[in-house]
Amino acid sequence: MQYFTQKDEKLVCLLCNHYCHLSPNQVGLCGVNKNSGNTIECLMYGHLAALNIDPVEKKPLYHFLPNTKTLSLGTIGCNFHCPFCQNWGISQEKHIDNRHYYSPSDIVQSALKYKCASISYTYNEPTIFYPYAKDIAVEAKKAGLKNIYVSNGYESHEVIMDMKGVIDACNIDLKSFNPNYYKQLGGKLDPILKNLKTLKALGIWLEVTTLIVPTKNDSLQELNAIASFIRNELDENTPWHISAFHPEFKEQNLPKTSLALLQKAYAIGKEVGLNYVYVGNVSFDNITYCTQCHGALIKREQFNVVFNHLVQGKCPFCNKKPEGVFDEN
Ligand code: SF4
Repeated sequence: MQYFTQKDEKLVCLLCNHYCHLSPNQVGLCGVNKNSGNTIECLMYGHLAALNIDPVEKKPLYHFLPNTKTLSLGTIGCNFHCPFCQNWGISQEKHIDNRHYYSPSDIVQSALKYKCASISYTYNEPTIFYPYAKDIAVEAKKAGLKNIYVSNGYESHEVIMDMKGVIDACNIDLKSFNPNYYKQLGGKLDPILKNLKTLKALGIWLEVTTLIVPTKNDSLQELNAIASFIRNELDENTPWHISAFHPEFKEQNLPKTSLALLQKAYAIGKEVGLNYVYVGNVSFDNITYCTQCHGALIKREQFNVVFNHLVQGKCPFCNKKPEGVFDEN
């Protein structure tokens, strides 16, 4: 895809739903995409702020190649400014450290060297570095690796459509069901809901995460609205990760999310009919049960897989295949 278009004297960035109209030399809201005259330059292309090998469970993805390693990378910058950001050290950073350059091929070779099954675009918002992520992803696919996208869901429609055939799995935040809440974070709710539905329709494996921030998005009514949206507009087999807040960044005065509230949210997810509800950032037995015979299939503790009873991606008790991607073929 072309990542920008011309409108009068300005270039319009097509990477995210802000669609910034940029004059020459102007930088967008994310601070890292710039109108350089005849193109929009992704200033941190090749310049990483973080590169680690993580268990895929940490993304979190629980129904995508469990117990495999994923080479995880991020840059600086974000198109949101969440006051509770748990990665604010890089997401809100403006200075690009360009001392090191990692080509797409360098990244793919590292993933292969360390026997990762996938590459994850994560830590900060990958949409703002999509030109770099896509170049890596295309090379990764040629090398037999999968690609994972961990995002706030504020992609442009153009980027979402471009992901098909390149990105294999996404974990997308649905932080709230309240438009005013998203306004405070620097975005809008409706485009995110639309993107979630489009990703599902495109056949990209999708899991959804909600960080429950005490006093901000923790009413049972709102949690019910989020779970119902996933159930009714995506489907009952879309995993929902409920994540505990820890005081971070500008929200140091809020308490941690209580275990009691996390348990209530879990119950809401099950009551509305979601088959796969998980609780993250606290100690919790996250077990995937077979939806046909109810046998326990996979159990995790934090990011570790305690057991995985699947046989060739199927339930060992009744042979049903759980939804997701459970073997590499
Ligand atoms: S990525 Fe989003 S915030 Fe950044 S310049 Fe493009 S449209 Fe604006």
